[in-house]
Amino acid sequence: MKTKRDYYEILAVERSATSEEIKRSYRKLAVKFHPDKNPGDHEAEEQFKELGAAYDVLMDPDKRAAYDRYGHAAFQQGAGAGAGAGGFHDPFDLFREVFGQNGGGGGGGIFDHFFGGGSGSDGRQRGSDLRYDLQITLEEAAAGVEKEIEIRKLDSCGDCSGSGAQAGSKTVTCSTCRGRGQVVVSRGFFQVAQTCPNCQGMGRTVEKPCRSCGGEGRVEKTSRIKLKIPAGIEHGARLRSGGNGEAGLRSGTSGDLYVVVHIKEHAIFEREGSDLHCDVPIPFTTAALGGEIHVPTLKGAINLKIPAGTQGGATFRVRNQGMPVLGSSGRGDLYTRVQVEVPTKLDSDQRAKLEEFAELCGDDNTPLHRSFYDKLKDFFTA
Ligand SMILES: [Zn+2]
Ligand SMILES: [Zn+2]
Repeated sequence: MKTKRDYYEILAVERSATSEEIKRSYRKLAVKFHPDKNPGDHEAEEQFKELGAAYDVLMDPDKRAAYDRYGHAAFQQGAGAGAGAGGFHDPFDLFREVFGQNGGGGGGGIFDHFFGGGSGSDGRQRGSDLRYDLQITLEEAAAGVEKEIEIRKLDSCGDCSGSGAQAGSKTVTCSTCRGRGQVVVSRGFFQVAQTCPNCQGMGRTVEKPCRSCGGEGRVEKTSRIKLKIPAGIEHGARLRSGGNGEAGLRSGTSGDLYVVVHIKEHAIFEREGSDLHCDVPIPFTTAALGGEIHVPTLKGAINLKIPAGTQGGATFRVRNQGMPVLGSSGRGDLYTRVQVEVPTKLDSDQRAKLEEFAELCGDDNTPLHRSFYDKLKDFFTA
């Protein structure tokens, strides 16, 4: 086996590259080495495959960290966390952007050959990774929560225990491709090698396929999966639920389930990292005279002292009333910003009192107002 090239080198990026940079470089190179552009060029085909494998690892934070530490050894057979040769990402989304929607019904076509997952010599294939978008509330993100989700996915067939074969049946060489795993089809002027549809590229089929799953070893089922969302999780965080993706073909390893967490917007709080922010309107009399107000926290209302002469926009920090910090016992703070509310719909009595009050007021009561008009005077005389 030839030595594997460095993934960063393959993608022509620095070791410190961001995922955006990796994505950009990948797209450029994928267009260059794409088999449709290089028919019959095996060198390009190899490079295209390498590119997919490198991209798959470097775009996944867990796999990238493992690769940075252990190199290719992180993904050799038997190495715990690695996804082995399988687990290629689905390139279709990317290629739609690059090549436009070029038919093919979204699934099949030439990519099967390259991204079918690592098929072992015994005809097993790793299942696909799946993505699930989970919405939770800010309160749930603060406290941590357990959720049970239901997803429909390919699961191991119960009738054949995932083997795909009827009891006592043997595996035989595929009659469609004669064991090659590929068939050649004509596309216009071109001849294109495609994954054999009869054996999915494995070269072998079972003599008597299981009737429930048609020999795949997996059937579509609804599964219930329990997810533990840790306290302090961020919006957009991705959690991996190992082995809960699609079942592999004929007892192949299952893929993983990736859960992307979305946190609903909150009516009162805005989150910034582990801190929370909220606006609290107070009457202008409280702002002027000082007093105590109720402010909301995630655990209920608390009292907050407002000093006399508080201006609109003044922000008070309430320690340790923010979000928990993921993986630690620390907590962020709550920032309460005061909005001073000027009374509306004054009745005649209130109006008279305010007018009386206004007459008693001098410049000393509103120093900001005075300094602003002082500046304005300088501005006009200059
Ligand atoms: Zn079966
Ligand atoms: Zn075949």
